[in-house]
Amino acid sequence: MSSPFDAFITNDDEVVDLLSQEWQRQTTTLQLIASENFASPAVMAATGSVLTNKYAEGYPGRRYYGGNQIVDEIEDLARRRLTGLFGADHANVQPHSGANANVAVYQALLAPGDTVLAMRLDQGGHLTHGSPVSMTSTAWNFVSYGVTARNDDPAAPGEMIDFDHVRAMALEHRPRMIVAGATAYARRIDPAPFREIADEVGALLMFDSAHVAGLIAGGSHPNPVPYADVVTFTTHKTLRGPRGGAILCRSDHAKAVDMAVFPGQQGGPLEHAIAAKAVAFKEAAHPSFATYTAQVVDNSRAFARALAQEGFRLVSGGTDNHMVLLDLREFDAELTGKVAQEVLDRAGITTNRNTIPDDPRSAFITSGLRVGTAAETTAGLGEGEFATVAALMARALRGREDETVVAAVRDTVAELCGRFNPYASFTK
Ligand SMILES: *Cc1c(COP(=O)(O)O)cnc(C)c1O
Repeated sequence: MSSPFDAFITNDDEVVDLLSQEWQRQTTTLQLIASENFASPAVMAATGSVLTNKYAEGYPGRRYYGGNQIVDEIEDLARRRLTGLFGADHANVQPHSGANANVAVYQALLAPGDTVLAMRLDQGGHLTHGSPVSMTSTAWNFVSYGVTARNDDPAAPGEMIDFDHVRAMALEHRPRMIVAGATAYARRIDPAPFREIADEVGALLMFDSAHVAGLIAGGSHPNPVPYADVVTFTTHKTLRGPRGGAILCRSDHAKAVDMAVFPGQQGGPLEHAIAAKAVAFKEAAHPSFATYTAQVVDNSRAFARALAQEGFRLVSGGTDNHMVLLDLREFDAELTGKVAQEVLDRAGITTNRNTIPDDPRSAFITSGLRVGTAAETTAGLGEGEFATVAALMARALRGREDETVVAAVRDTVAELCGRFNPYASFTK
């Protein structure tokens, strides 16, 4: 039977070919970007569903368009699964991204110009935590805290959140809100000391768990929901869902948060993404997800140990989560994050350069590299394989002037990826 789309399906060879190439790239090279993961085929199927056709401005039971009976059930299911997963009062699953979720919370709970205390970008914070290049810094008055000084004594590692600094800044600036959470920080973030400081100065506490939401859902990291007024996160990092964001909050903030997301910031919600979020929340509640997140952290620790043995300095001396932040200067004083990322790309190892605390190089060049274990743990790599990956990274970087060395690493990587292909049993 013919369909109105036949002409388009058969004509768009360019996109089909590019998608096929990207499928190849993802499954024949190593994905070590700490903010990425491999979503399940069920998540991808929901993302590619007919829900992409539906307009649903508003919320379940209160839509501005007709035909939303089933969409209402989908969004309600997503909200119910999410509040159940984290034990929260209220969920908003509409934010298109983590950045949107954060800005919506600021809009919901702050007046323009209010003071917010958050982690500085070059110390591990996110752009939406008041970076000068983000609109958050023009709409609100951000002040920042950082990490403690570097300390090479393994018994007392530095480069950890400096709670004395958090408290001193809070007492000095009396912020309306304190933001906990980071984008380049390998240690556990305890919500309790943040709550204590917030209470001391009468501030609201927002916990941005974009990176670690999956680790929290799996029970590998402390749940901030009992401590924070609001918790924001992305659904595509360790949580392993579709690209998107979400907000959890106490019931007294529910109305303000919902109003800020829509109509405050966004138009029609992406119900196909929301259906995929519902799928991901169910997957994250399954006992196997706790096994997965425990393995992510074990792999990260094994990876960090092996990288240290290769001569890389670990920022903060180690890791408690899915990421390792490397200071490249001890490995090779000449090697910048930018060059390391490019060499590793040629070797089939995908990473991202990152500033390290007090980095003497710019954010475009950097002295650091960030790697993560969330995606390749999904693919099935264990601690032994991550030790191998550390050795491969070191070999490629040491031999970066010699294309045969880099090509040999790339071949070994391809062989490893052939044995650990997350989509091996599914066809394109
Ligand atoms: C990734 C991240 C975000 C933003 O998420 P996007 O979906 O990329 O907008 C916000 N906060 C933190 C801490 C993050 O790591």
